[in-house]
Amino acid sequence: MQEYLDIEQSFFVWPRADRGYYWDEQARPGGLFGEMIENPPRPEPPYLLETPETTGFYTTRVMEQEPALFLKFADIQPTREGILEFANAYGPLTHGETEVLTPRYSYPEGREEEKPWKHGVFGLCDQKDGRIYGTVFADSLKFWQNEIRDMRWTVQVWEWFEKRDAVALERVIHWSKDGQGVSYVLADWEGLSDATVKGDIMDQIKAARIPFSTGPLASKDYHGEVLARFRPGDVLLPAQYLVQSRINEKLQKLVIRPRLLMNDHNQLEPYLCPKNLLAAMWFQFFRTATGEKRFRRCSICGLWADVTGKTQRWSRHADCANRERVRRSRAKAQNSGHKMATRSS
Ligand SMILES: [Zn+2]
Repeated sequence: MQEYLDIEQSFFVWPRADRGYYWDEQARPGGLFGEMIENPPRPEPPYLLETPETTGFYTTRVMEQEPALFLKFADIQPTREGILEFANAYGPLTHGETEVLTPRYSYPEGREEEKPWKHGVFGLCDQKDGRIYGTVFADSLKFWQNEIRDMRWTVQVWEWFEKRDAVALERVIHWSKDGQGVSYVLADWEGLSDATVKGDIMDQIKAARIPFSTGPLASKDYHGEVLARFRPGDVLLPAQYLVQSRINEKLQKLVIRPRLLMNDHNQLEPYLCPKNLLAAMWFQFFRTATGEKRFRRCSICGLWADVTGKTQRWSRHADCANRERVRRSRAKAQNSGHKMATRSS
């Protein structure tokens, strides 16, 4: 890899607090920025905050050091514990959905020695009811859960599409009976036992009360030019289109800026710089969808591996394959040892 000048200013780096994060139940949108949210509903607590004990931040060059982070994100449990573990390793998702006021970041007016935080909190403070509040920004639990779900559902469709798994995709892609329209259903399929049966999927989803999302994909009147590319009954190309439109939808909202970097030879090179961790992860997905990056699940450990530049046949980590071989030959040796023992007795 090329070395560039001034890493902080050029590469995308994302901070994570050195003393970790916690869920704050008492935090509420407030302060100058928190009051500015005009469109209800306001995000609800709890919020994920770095602990007031934070003394500094570690940084990750996400695009270079964690190219498959979007896949790890898709795999995390959308629980408080699961999210906390992820945040402790990689930091928050954004610079904060809103400013919040919380007792954990406050002290009585005129008693600065009781100030509970050590780091800057942007150096700003809010005053309210005789207390001084540090200005902190945060994402809510709901925000995290929605983002995990969006990523997980899209990654799932992409994974099935990559495997050309038409049976699995029949849960997701639905053709109308006359073949004139296609719609999609996204859901947490693990909650359903037998959800491949066409037709009654919505009944099953509603009965199981699992989260889902549904909508039209293409019809004569809605993206007719896309419909014309589909072969009636086919689920593969519509699945690819679903992934395409969901990535585009996210990238429309998330900011990724082009930037010029100076390389070793003082020549200018392009670099695309995401604004936050969430944007970085959707950008990773974008690069994977275009084939610039390739990832596959290891058939032994089930974790994602970067197989960019590896052969199409790659199916497992070399380490996993070795461990498997050792395990098998040990089992074999134990078996034959056992047989010999029975023979001699
Ligand atoms: Zn493995």
